[in-house]
Amino acid sequence: MEILQRIQLLSEIAAGALNLVFPTRCPGCERIDTVGFCQDCRRMLEWIERKSACQRCGASGMSSQRIRGNACPACHNRNYKTTQAAAVLKYSGPLVPAIIRWKYRNQEKLTAVFAELMVDWITMQAPDWWEKIDYIVPAPHHPSTVRNRGFNPPEEIAGIIASRFAIPFLPRILFKIRMTAPQVRLKGDERFANLHESMHVFDKSMLEGKRVLIIDDVMTTGATMNECARAILCGGAEKVYGLVLARQSDSH
Ligand SMILES: [Zn+2]
Ligand SMILES: [Zn+2]
Repeated sequence: MEILQRIQLLSEIAAGALNLVFPTRCPGCERIDTVGFCQDCRRMLEWIERKSACQRCGASGMSSQRIRGNACPACHNRNYKTTQAAAVLKYSGPLVPAIIRWKYRNQEKLTAVFAELMVDWITMQAPDWWEKIDYIVPAPHHPSTVRNRGFNPPEEIAGIIASRFAIPFLPRILFKIRMTAPQVRLKGDERFANLHESMHVFDKSMLEGKRVLIIDDVMTTGATMNECARAILCGGAEKVYGLVLARQSDSH
């Protein structure tokens, strides 16, 4: 084979491999020939600053007077189990169609794009977490939901983050033990009641005295994160932190 043909072949293989990992359309606006979000969409992503967000539900954009005891008004009367929960981006702008494509149209390749956004946020805003965390655990879905969808978004994203920061990953420790009504139809406190005792840790010996980071895709009231944390603490863990890709406002 001629050397130029070899180079051509190798570059096609490399492009094919890249295409397996990263999509070549922008997940926000579907512009072609971009890796991840295009520049225009990237500029519209709304990053959440950890310092000015509620430490319980990840809500952003509040003045320091409204955040009392590190919690926003909606969280003052809720007994959250997480030591701290944070969100990387607001569920807004080009992130919305991108997440819909990822979760509901099974564009699994977008996992790598979202994982990199979360890695960037952690590196900039929460570098202190990595000395504190013993394990990363994904928020679980019921097995039938995973079967229907064909993949498990929080598990995929958490696996990439764990490997990037070399933190042990436990994808099979926390289980959803009963189906629950879709959270989207419920309001505030109903979401917490709907999920109560819906999750369970099967191997408690792993968690004794450990500090665990739970990773999920989208957070609204923090009810799912809270139920994950309750089960992990029942399993003997010392502290639970939470991180989600996107924070959706309660009014949605
Ligand atoms: Zn775009
Ligand atoms: Zn809050």
